[in-house]
Amino acid sequence: SFSSCSPKVCVVGSGPAGFYTAQHLIKARQDAEVDILERLPVPFGLVRFGVAPDHPEVKNVINTFTQTAQHPRCSFYGNVNVGKDVSIGELQQAYHAVVLSYGAEGNRSMGVPGEDLPGVYSAKDFVGWYNGLPSCRELQPDLSCETAVILGQGNVALDVARVLLSPINILKNTDITQPALDSLAKSRIRRVLIVGRRGPVQVACTIKELREMVNLPGTTPEMVAADFQGVAEALKDLPRPRKRLTELMLKTALETPGEKEQERRSKASRVWGLRFFRSPIEVLSDPGHHKVAGIRLAVNRVEGSGEGARAVLTGKVEEVSCGLVISSIGYRSLPIDPLVPFDSHKAIIPNTVGRVHQAPGLYCSGWVKTGPTGVIATTMNNSFDTARSLVEDMDSGSLDVSSAKPGSQFITALLENRGVKPVTFSDWEKINSVEVRRGEVNGKPREKVLTVEEMLQLARA
Ligand code: FAD
Repeated sequence: SFSSCSPKVCVVGSGPAGFYTAQHLIKARQDAEVDILERLPVPFGLVRFGVAPDHPEVKNVINTFTQTAQHPRCSFYGNVNVGKDVSIGELQQAYHAVVLSYGAEGNRSMGVPGEDLPGVYSAKDFVGWYNGLPSCRELQPDLSCETAVILGQGNVALDVARVLLSPINILKNTDITQPALDSLAKSRIRRVLIVGRRGPVQVACTIKELREMVNLPGTTPEMVAADFQGVAEALKDLPRPRKRLTELMLKTALETPGEKEQERRSKASRVWGLRFFRSPIEVLSDPGHHKVAGIRLAVNRVEGSGEGARAVLTGKVEEVSCGLVISSIGYRSLPIDPLVPFDSHKAIIPNTVGRVHQAPGLYCSGWVKTGPTGVIATTMNNSFDTARSLVEDMDSGSLDVSSAKPGSQFITALLENRGVKPVTFSDWEKINSVEVRRGEVNGKPREKVLTVEEMLQLARA
C-alpha cells in the first residue's frame, strides 16, 4: 500500500484524454496515485465507441491504456457517473486534484425545421449505433431508401459514408455490432452525398479518409465539375497536406481514370459524392409527415480564401430527395457540475494549459479542454500538457499536496452508500474476454456487449 500522504489525483473519463493524462502523471511523479472514473462499465471512450470498425489499427492505443490501467498506482472505476453518482465537490474532498477528461457527449444541431423527423440522425448517434454505444442501441435506422445525405465533410462524415457503402464482406470481419451488420446487409442505400457549406479548398477531412472513399470497392465517385472552378489555380498557394488532399479531389472529380479504374468504376453499384457550397435550410418530409423525404439546401458562395473563408448565401435554393439525413457538423461538450466553470459559447471548460480558470485543484484535458477536434495523437499531446501543468503545480507548491487525502477509500464508501457498484479494470477484462470469445465464432475481433445490464452481469460473474 502507498503512503497516505502521496498526491492523489482523480481523472474523470476513460477516453484517450483520461488515459494519457494518467499515464504521464504516474510517470512524472513516482508517488502519485491516479483513479480514473468512467460513466460506462467499459473503458476507452471514443476509441471503442467512435473510431470506425474498419480502422482496427487505430484501436491499438488500447494496449497502452491497458498497461496504464494495470499500473499499481492506477485504478479504474467504471459505472460511475460523475455529476450524478458523485459530485465534483466530493471528489475535491477526496483528492488533491481532479482532472476533467469527459469528452464531448453532446452534438451540435443543425437548427433547421424538420431535423426531428424520423430518418434524421446525428452522426454521433449513428456512429454510436454501429459501434455498440448502449444509449444508441434502439436507433435501428431505416436504410430502405436509395439516397442518404450527410451534412458535414469531416472525417466522421467520411467514416459514416464508408460504413454505409462498404461491401458487407469488408465489414463482417470487424468489430461492428451484429445488429448493424444485419441492417447494413439489407440496406438499399445506393448513393451517399456528403455536403459542405464551403468549397473544396475548405473541406475538413484528411487525405487518408478521402483516399479510402476513392478506393472503396463497389463504389464510384460522382462529383460536380463546376464546384472545382478555380481550384487548380489555387493549388500552388496551399500548405502541403491541404495541397495533396485537394489534388486528390481534383483528380477524382475531373480526370478521366485509366482503363483499369474505368472498368472498376463501371461495375460499381454504389455512388458517393462530395457536394460543395450548400447549407441545410429545411429537412423535408413525406406528405404524411412520417419521415424524411428530402432536404432543402441553400446555395452559397465563398468569400475570402483559405481556411478562414466564409460561406455567404446567394439566395438560390435547391432540393435533394433522400430518405436518410445524417448531420455530422460536430460534437459538443456539456457542463458536468455547477462547481466547474463552463464556457457555453465555445462549449469547453475555460483553461490555461489545462488549469481550469478560477478553480484551483481542477484541471482538464482532451476534447472538453480543446473542443471536439483532433485525432488521438492531438488529444495525447494536449493531455500530456495538462499533466505537466499539474505536476508543475505539485512541485512548486501552488497545489498543496502536503496534507493527506483519503482518495478512493472515501469515494468507494460513498458510492456503496448510494448503491453504485463500480466496475474495476479486472471486471472489464472479464467483459473483454467474453466479447473476444463471442467474436471468434464469427471471425470478428470481438462481438461487443450491447447493454449496460449485460456488461454489469458479466463484470460480476
Ligand atoms: P472521449 O474519447 O469521448 O472520452 C471521454 C470519456 O468520458 C468517455 O469514456 C465517456 O463515457 C466518459 N464520460 C463522459 N461523461 C462522464 C461522466 N459524467 N462521468 C464519468 N465519465 C464520463 N482519432 C483518430 O486518431 N483516428 C480515428 O480514426 C478517429 N476516429 C474518430 C471517429 C469518430 C466518430 C470520432 C467522434 C472521433 C474519432 N477520432 C479519431 C478522434 C478521437 O476519438 C478523439 O481525439 C479522442 O477520443 C478524444 O478523447 P477524449 O478522452 O477527450 O474524449
